[in-house]
Amino acid sequence: MGNDRLTQIVSLCRRRGFVFGGSEIYGGLSSIWDYGPLGAKIKKRIKDIWWDTYVDKREDILGLDSAIIMNREVFVASGHLEGFADYLVDCPQCKKRIRIDKIEKVSENNYRCAECGSLINILESKPKRFNLMLKTNISASEDSPQEAYLRPETAQGIFTNFLNVLNTTHKKLPFGIAQIGKAFRNEVTTGSFIFRMKEFEQMEIEYFVKPKDADRYFDYWVNERYNFYIERIGLKKENLRLREHSKEELAHYAKACIDIEYRFPFSSRKEDSDGEWSELEGIANRGDFDLTQHSRVSKKDLTYFDDEDNTRYIPFVIEPSAGVDRTFFAVICDAYDEEEVKGRKRVVLKLKPTLAPYTLAIFPLLKNNYTIVELAKKIFYDIKNKMPTIYDDTAAIGKLYRRQDEIGTPFCITVDVESLSDGKVTIRERDSMSQERISIYEIEKFVKEKVKD
Ligand code: ATP
Repeated sequence: MGNDRLTQIVSLCRRRGFVFGGSEIYGGLSSIWDYGPLGAKIKKRIKDIWWDTYVDKREDILGLDSAIIMNREVFVASGHLEGFADYLVDCPQCKKRIRIDKIEKVSENNYRCAECGSLINILESKPKRFNLMLKTNISASEDSPQEAYLRPETAQGIFTNFLNVLNTTHKKLPFGIAQIGKAFRNEVTTGSFIFRMKEFEQMEIEYFVKPKDADRYFDYWVNERYNFYIERIGLKKENLRLREHSKEELAHYAKACIDIEYRFPFSSRKEDSDGEWSELEGIANRGDFDLTQHSRVSKKDLTYFDDEDNTRYIPFVIEPSAGVDRTFFAVICDAYDEEEVKGRKRVVLKLKPTLAPYTLAIFPLLKNNYTIVELAKKIFYDIKNKMPTIYDDTAAIGKLYRRQDEIGTPFCITVDVESLSDGKVTIRERDSMSQERISIYEIEKFVKEKVKD
């Protein structure tokens, strides 16, 4: 089932302009993707919902938009220059270069190639370390390069601005700093469409707390973020699960980490029996590691003065770190449905209406009838500033419905000859395909009542 479904989803994304290969007319670039007109809309809606939920609607979280290019020292302090590396091994049989941590361990020194299934002995095919950081040069002269790095996570911009935010807002613990932005990793394992990209976007919160409160807030954020995917993004509960990191898997600085996993139609974790659960978001209790490190390397005092307890300390931090692209991918996978209607396949994206590129589509039943087209366009121009609406008269009605089903438009309106005399139109609901006649004046109210957060 898995890969067929994935093939259909990738084909839909391409056909309808959700996702394109990066630099495609020049042959593309591995693991670099572009979002087309409809993909860009969905992606923006995901980010807007996240920002609205955590920054606009809360008093305890502040927004930030820090630079992508950062000073080398940042990554000395964070440990990325030293430790942000994968161990890669070349399969002696199929020659594919693979990450050792992502394939099945068969015995002490033997792993199984995920591509061709042959055994890889790590004493013979020695794994090599490969740093994932993308380096750039920001000097004006090529003779004396000044090395800088593209951030591999948005989090470091938050830590380096901790003092700026604290001093300018005078927040008291607990408080968070949130940001949405691009991150870059020179990933080696590729494939699985947009799951693992070299340039991707994250939505991260660093939530600073008193050390004694860290466990409680860790639990709070796991719960909060899990519910977010169900309630605000509309993912199905049965496709989501929590997975706690084992002691061996935990990053050395993390005190606890739980991944929110989604059941994608492929497997990036071969040891899973059902083979489809993969990380959507990681929530970590990072203790005081990051601020302590930046304090040590930058020689700036990053402590917090607690006037309730009259003490000074480095706060602990809870980090819910989500990927915009993986959320987008999960949204499309979750919504994708194929049904048989009157002996024909219907592809429909059952998106949560608040995420759909268009809420409403307007069609004239007869595109050559001037008065019908004029009325349909008038309805379109009246409503398009009130909700995302599209007008289409480039095909017969059945085809127009099918197009909107494929891009997840929850409601379609058809204007016909009778509309000219009775002032009513046919409104069709995407999932049930039920149709009813409503007055032109009721369209906005009718749709808004059904499209709730
Ligand atoms: P993985 O184990 O899949 O490589 P990770 O544990 O390295 O992921 P984190 O460093 O925890 O990922 O990053 C937080 C989130 O950022 C991930 O849950 C994911 O949604 C997103 N993310 C990380 N790397 C990528 C990538 N290469 N492409 C797309 N999204 C990514």
